Amino acid sequence: MLPQNDWPRFEPGWVWLVGAGPGDPGLLTLHALNALRQADVVVYDALVSEDILAWAPGAELVYAGKRGGKPSAVQRDISLRLVELARAGKRVLRLKGGDPFVFGRGGEEGQTLVQHGIPIRIVPGISAGIGGLAYAGIPVTHRDVNQSVTFVTGHDQSGEAPSSLDWAAISRGSQVIVIYMGMKHIARIAGALLEAGRSVDEPVAVVTEATTERQRVLETTLGRLEADIAESGMEPPAILCVGRSVLMRQVLDWQAMARGESVRAFDPLGRGDAAQSA
Ligand code: SAH
Repeated sequence: MLPQNDWPRFEPGWVWLVGAGPGDPGLLTLHALNALRQADVVVYDALVSEDILAWAPGAELVYAGKRGGKPSAVQRDISLRLVELARAGKRVLRLKGGDPFVFGRGGEEGQTLVQHGIPIRIVPGISAGIGGLAYAGIPVTHRDVNQSVTFVTGHDQSGEAPSSLDWAAISRGSQVIVIYMGMKHIARIAGALLEAGRSVDEPVAVVTEATTERQRVLETTLGRLEADIAESGMEPPAILCVGRSVLMRQVLDWQAMARGESVRAFDPLGRGDAAQSA
């Protein structure tokens, strides 16, 4: 199943914190597959697809999704559950959507495990803010657009719009802003960016259920964002990308091309002989 290699052995009593990628099982790493093959228990989140769980046919599956309620209390329960399972001598695979260390509380869980003397291994995954946008044909960096990219979360631990974020600084410092968990507070986020000086015409993409068969992409602008999302009926999980790299989708929407649709623009940023310049 796995190519020849000296793959790590999953020892009993260990917890591996593993990223499952944004959805498409093809975006799992080989280390993740190696882990799924050996795990006794898979403790998984809401965003991990069933297709991926099917790769661990021998493991007990434990759902640890968090919905509403008191997130911090539940988070503590999950971490302690992992400790218990490891102490019971299981090979415990903690499977998280995307990358475990990107807005995924992997750091907190890892810390609790280490504090309880449980040995851990971290397996990074493809984060939705990079891989999900790539499936929509949007490069998070593009030489003509941005030298930096900022990943932000649209709400904090309490579920509120993150009050600690300095949108003016983010707006000044980053031509491209990738927003996780942004749907709930979309009006406030768009308002804050406009107030910080971004233009109403600034391109924005919304990608829901990225990399799955249900992936949807909305191309809009900051000024129309809220109304267009409402009209589209799009629901989370969604990644938002604010910035001119969204325009590159006109030439890089590889899924549309694979369906036989024609390229919308070969040079959407108007760089002239971009193909020739080294
Ligand atoms: N650790 C994850 C992020 C967890 S936070 C990662 O690295 O991707 C959960 C948020 O991630 C969602 O609210 C959404 O903003 C984003 N997300 C995760 N998977 C997604 C997907 N397939 N499509 C769109 N957004 C996704």
